[in-house]
Amino acid sequence: MPLEIITIPCLTDNYAFLLHAPGSGLTALVDAPEAAPIKAELEKRGWTLDFILITHHHWDHVDAVEELRDAYDATVIGAQADEHRLPALDVKVKDGTTFSLSREDVHVLDVSGHTIGHIAYYLPGSKSIFTADSLMALGCGRLFEGTPEQMHASLTKLAALPANTIVYSGHEYTQSNGQFALTVDPENEALHARVKAVDEARNRGEPTVPSKLSEELQTNPYLRAHTKGVQQAVGMEGADPVDVFTEVRRRKDSF
Ligand code: ZN
Ligand code: FE
Repeated sequence: MPLEIITIPCLTDNYAFLLHAPGSGLTALVDAPEAAPIKAELEKRGWTLDFILITHHHWDHVDAVEELRDAYDATVIGAQADEHRLPALDVKVKDGTTFSLSREDVHVLDVSGHTIGHIAYYLPGSKSIFTADSLMALGCGRLFEGTPEQMHASLTKLAALPANTIVYSGHEYTQSNGQFALTVDPENEALHARVKAVDEARNRGEPTVPSKLSEELQTNPYLRAHTKGVQQAVGMEGADPVDVFTEVRRRKDSF
């Protein structure tokens, strides 16, 4: 039975996610930006917290880990490579590690780029991936630590997952990502339609996360550096997709 997944808005534009196994009652959290809304959601549903899964070391993803660990006696899981700058880890994982939540397998993927040591959690049974600040809705995280080559490799890995995978990313940046995407993929009809749908959703106060990998493949410019549309728009027709990606990411930084 797939996990029940709850999206929790935190801080100004962060998301945390609760994963709940209906059979066993086991509950896990992906990222801990802020304790109060997460505690409120757990209370409302009568759930406790068994695991906290950390994606990367930035404060807006880990700030509430200690408070939640103490409150629920939760087991904290994160990247071994980032052990020195994460809250104390009970379970250390790396690219290729598989563990289980209730009866469901969780695969750990290294998706370095935004930071080195950023990981994603892939749950094929629930057709879901938790990408935080690597692959985002219509975007990707800013390159604070990694190189464009690293981010491109991470995104290429994510793009190869089944297209019906649901992408749970870490921020509500989709509207501004969409405005930028139009400048580097202006002829993309699917992108225009998505930007319109995103604007409408935001006007109704609805989140635009999660999204489907299939729609990211069609509209996310960082997954489209190999396409003629993006290459023409940035004046790099026939160039190496890594170089095109580098240029697209560079333009976003000053957009
Ligand atoms: Zn971050
Ligand atoms: Fe973040």
